[in-house]
Amino acid sequence: MLVRTSDEGGYQGMSMIIVPTSTPGFSVGRKLKKMGNNSSDTAELVLDDVRVPVRYTIGEAGRGFQMQMAQFQDERLWICYMAVTGARRAIDRTIEYLQMREAFGKPLLANQYIQYQLAELVADIDVLHGFLHHTAERYVTGEDVTRAATVAKLQAGRLSRRVADACVQFHGGMGYAEEMWVARYFRDCRLGSIGGGADEVMLRIISMLEGMGRK
Ligand SMILES: Cc1cc2nc3c(=O)[nH]c(=O)nc-3n(C[C@H](O)[C@H](O)[C@H](O)COP(=O)(O)OP(=O)(O)OC[C@H]3O[C@@H](n4cnc5c(N)ncnc54)[C@H](O)[C@@H]3O)c2cc1C
Repeated sequence: MLVRTSDEGGYQGMSMIIVPTSTPGFSVGRKLKKMGNNSSDTAELVLDDVRVPVRYTIGEAGRGFQMQMAQFQDERLWICYMAVTGARRAIDRTIEYLQMREAFGKPLLANQYIQYQLAELVADIDVLHGFLHHTAERYVTGEDVTRAATVAKLQAGRLSRRVADACVQFHGGMGYAEEMWVARYFRDCRLGSIGGGADEVMLRIISMLEGMGRK
């Protein structure tokens, strides 16, 4: 858990600590009913006068915020990989469906408008995938990839939303039906622009790294 461990303001005085769930005062509160990702529970955690020994500190005391920022590189990269591979799979399944679904005597996929819409998304997925591989290669050599991971996270959240929207659209009425995978994908992937830092937070980091605004 990232907590404030001194009165220093701002990014200083925060530490990473271990809080065993058996610690007196800790409890799991209200479970949130979410619009998606329902196979993963999300709940409020209640800390009522919880105390843990100083030896439960992870890393250096007072450097928790900086550690969390470093961890975000990792987290944001795997969020992006999940997003692009999920988006590619969604396009493949949609192509499969459009090949099978016939309207006025021919598969919907024969419609050039639909082909081009999907081709646009495939092209964007390819570009992001390439950028991610390049970033991951830099990351494993120990390079600081904060900027690239931030750019990728912003693009991945937005691209997933465009892909999900197109997939629902091209499934027609069935795309709106809960029995189809695509309705769930639409709801699940919406988290991409919020979790791990919202799109606006990514924009803020990019602005700061570009020398705009307050560091
Ligand atoms: C399903 C789920 C699982 C999660 N799992 C975890 C987890 O495991 N660990 C964890 O630590 N957190 C987790 N989170 C929390 C998640 O990281 C935050 O919800 C997310 O970072 C957004 O923060 P917030 O909810 O506090 O939004 P707020 O800070 O209340 O912001 C609300 C909205 O305001 C806008 N906004 C915020 N800041 C700015 C800004 N500076 N400029 C312009 N606009 C802005 C954005 O649109 C943002 O979405 C989870 C959230 C969800 C929904």
